[in-house]
Amino acid sequence: MRFSWPRLAFPWVFALSASCGGAPPAVSPDGVWLATFDAVPRADFNRAAVALDLPLFWTEDTDRDGTLDPSELAVLWAAPPTEESHWVSSGAFNPTFGSAYASIVDFVKNGPKFAGLAPGEVERRKAVLRELDAGRPTLVASDFRGSAATDEDRAIVNHVLAAARLVEKLYQKQTGTLSLASKVPADDPASRRLFYRNQGPQCEAPPTKGDVNCHAIPRAPGEEKRVPSGLYPAELQSKPDFCKALAARPDARALMNPFVVVTGEGDALKPVPYHRAYENDMQAVARELDAAAEAITNPDEASFQAYLRAAAKAFRDGSWFEADEAWARMSTFNSKWYLRIGPDETYFEPCSEKAGFHVSFARIDQSSIEWKEKLDPLKQDMEQALATLAGPPYTAQKVSFKLPDFITVILNAGDARDAFGATIGQSLPNFGPVGNEGRGRTVAMTNFYTDPDSIASQHGLAASLFCGGAMASYTDDPGPQLMSTVLHEAAHNLGPSHQYAVNGKIDSEIFGGPLASTLEELKAQSAALYFTDWLVERGTIDKNKANFAHVRDIAWAFGHISRGMYDEAKHPLNYSQLAAIQVGFLLDEGVLAWNAGEKAQNGTDAGCFAVKLDAFPAASKKLMGIVAKIKGSGDKPGAEALVAKYVDAPGAYADLKKTITERWLRQPKASFVYSIRR
Ligand SMILES: [Zn+2]
Repeated sequence: MRFSWPRLAFPWVFALSASCGGAPPAVSPDGVWLATFDAVPRADFNRAAVALDLPLFWTEDTDRDGTLDPSELAVLWAAPPTEESHWVSSGAFNPTFGSAYASIVDFVKNGPKFAGLAPGEVERRKAVLRELDAGRPTLVASDFRGSAATDEDRAIVNHVLAAARLVEKLYQKQTGTLSLASKVPADDPASRRLFYRNQGPQCEAPPTKGDVNCHAIPRAPGEEKRVPSGLYPAELQSKPDFCKALAARPDARALMNPFVVVTGEGDALKPVPYHRAYENDMQAVARELDAAAEAITNPDEASFQAYLRAAAKAFRDGSWFEADEAWARMSTFNSKWYLRIGPDETYFEPCSEKAGFHVSFARIDQSSIEWKEKLDPLKQDMEQALATLAGPPYTAQKVSFKLPDFITVILNAGDARDAFGATIGQSLPNFGPVGNEGRGRTVAMTNFYTDPDSIASQHGLAASLFCGGAMASYTDDPGPQLMSTVLHEAAHNLGPSHQYAVNGKIDSEIFGGPLASTLEELKAQSAALYFTDWLVERGTIDKNKANFAHVRDIAWAFGHISRGMYDEAKHPLNYSQLAAIQVGFLLDEGVLAWNAGEKAQNGTDAGCFAVKLDAFPAASKKLMGIVAKIKGSGDKPGAEALVAKYVDAPGAYADLKKTITERWLRQPKASFVYSIRR
């Protein structure tokens, strides 16, 4: 398709043609300027937009004409924010978009420009571009325009998005990166995008995170890359094992409270609650949440309104557990919205103890009701099954948790917005009475990785590692993996979890924060594997569906293995480690076999994984038993032995993990971007 412009020689039209290195701008017979938007393919357009830090995404070539149309352009939630009207006027691209398009074409055809830069700076910028290239921008789009939504909906969305911007700032204060943003060179859009995407200067892609050059900020030679966390005094963090030192202090419980910042000097440390440490920003979030509550007049949304007010109060006075009560009263049955705003997960920080600020904002997807009806009557039996596998001292508890609500995400922000990938299931809260009493909520996100680009990419990766026989049980249908997510999230409430204590000690006190997190995730994901077969035995699902789920779960594990076992600061990556333990265990049990002489299903890669699905149920039950026993009895040496054998040990399995990583990293990882039309 072509777009005609009024008779105005926009400077960008010349820029565009010049950068294409050829023909002068076309002039139609009636003297109208014609600009076409077919100079670069969709994937290149999207990649270049990232490198140039343009908040633009070509969604899909809907009419297959190789030309970007205004209706195919998504304007992304980015910093600084721009509205669609900035780029598209009266249904047509405007000159602002035109010059952006010209710069994209120039970037794709001629590459990045490094003229006049010092050699070290060139290396840094190249590394930054490699880091960005390791992510394929993947759109999560929502549309609240016109009759798709009400004015009330749009007002809610606007206030929650405003709160989300503030939460991103809070999160960056926690990670200690906020003050560094101004050090990104002004003429370097790629580093600016890296800083925004990764919420800090650090590189996170497996091939570049260890690259000394990869950083959004130029550094002096030898200058440390590590950014001290904002949650503890910098001086304290320069000591080795400072987390252990804190945990050994008599005031450890107060200092390691998830909702406080540790301040002070030397040994004189004190806890400062978040709502005091970050008072101004917290108050600003509260005002947006109150305004969102104020906008609600629909009586059907009374429970959402109550949560918004309770969350606002918590941002003012730290009453997070009260907000949890209001939050837990929301459900698939009484609101069309899902919102969680506040401090929750602890994976992001060096001690895995402090809760990171995030926003998870979504619409309810009603299709979870089918799973609720299937699994609700089985919950207590599932708990009993895990208790039997764990053995004493663990005994079955009365379980009362709610099964996952399905949600379609509008926006993840703060700690919930990752550079690569996205959380596809979550059980909250982690602390306080609602979580401890099993009254929390669990959600499964149903709209990630369901776009055509992601499906094709996942399929190709699986076909590079599985043999033909295994691929026969691989499905592009997200259903089986969704079931697995449901079971994983349910299992966070089953067996030894939350405040379960052995000799008065909870898991983080027995195992230490990072190992406790790995074990809890290993428990949940092993339960996902185990309960899949358990459901077949009970006739709840058929064997075929279980097999599809198993193969997808193994592929999921490959993906996590490819991320590496530790982050730059040698902090364990919980999912990667659990994935390595599972794949290693399944190899030992003969469920997986590496056929070095066989070609993968893609026909090109030599060596592939065969899967013996008949052996799966016995192996997953055995693994579940081992993990449940370790958690149930507080067996730290047992946990460390799993990590030593499957995560850290050199040898044949370590080499296999390298092969998995090498193949899986050929495709860029999904890097989610959001557009919210309203
Ligand atoms: Zn989990």
